[in-house]
Amino acid sequence: MSKRIDKISKPDWLKVKACGDKEYLKTLSLIRENHLETVCHEANCPNRAECFSSGTATFLILGNICTRSCRFCNIATGKPKAVDTDEPNRVARAVDIMNLKHAVITSVNRDELSDGGSKQFVKVIEAIRHLEKNVTIEVLTPDFRGVEENILRVLDAQPEVYNHNIETVPRLYQSVRPAANYIQSLNLLKLISGGKVGVKSGVMVGLGETVNELKNVFADMSAHGVEYLTIGQYLSPSKNHHPVIKYYEPSEFDDLAESARQAGIRSVFSGPLVRSSYHAGETYRHQ
Ligand code: SF4
Repeated sequence: MSKRIDKISKPDWLKVKACGDKEYLKTLSLIRENHLETVCHEANCPNRAECFSSGTATFLILGNICTRSCRFCNIATGKPKAVDTDEPNRVARAVDIMNLKHAVITSVNRDELSDGGSKQFVKVIEAIRHLEKNVTIEVLTPDFRGVEENILRVLDAQPEVYNHNIETVPRLYQSVRPAANYIQSLNLLKLISGGKVGVKSGVMVGLGETVNELKNVFADMSAHGVEYLTIGQYLSPSKNHHPVIKYYEPSEFDDLAESARQAGIRSVFSGPLVRSSYHAGETYRHQ
């Protein structure tokens, strides 16, 4: 059993400013007024103060109850509600009011649906396109259990960036994301690569992986078409979740980024507080 270290106070580089300035509250009330969910809130993301204050957020569609119970994730597990047919319009309205240049859309797993929720992703993309506001769109999807029809449905809706996170090294899948499969996730990335869409993925570190295992993951990602990679520190949402095994130093994130670039991934964003959607617009525009 791995030893947990998350009872020790967090290192300084993981301490963030408190939420609550005027812009933060404006973003929060807009999300609430439109009855939307954000992964920022559901995942208790440490960057909420920064992102909400700068008027950005990542929309969580298809509800806030997931059919899986990954041990790193703060989102509740259970029986999700019926798909909300008005949700795409409300997401588009929020994108419009927030004047987003780059909209990031993610979802819970909806393994009980035959389309895995892929049709709702398409409807959200179409609703945002309907604004005719030149918004670039990034989707962060589940693995759709590897069903190609569902993956390709989202790809065919032509988001600018298609993200699917590998999350951790294959040895830890069973203890971190037991309902997922490393090869299946790699195959998803391969399937969406080779076209116009930017292929993105991410890993959390601090779950007990070794640097050599991470280097092997970077090589696999590169061989499966990944162009954009995020690397961030795992933070355990509660004592019932997977423990933090290690806090990486900022310089170690720089070393990991260098290893990933050497493996052939052209755009790497690596740092203690980096998350899949952190500064996603800037990453897309400037790389
Ligand atoms: S990093 Fe992503 S999930 Fe976290 S607050 Fe910012 S937009 Fe939300």
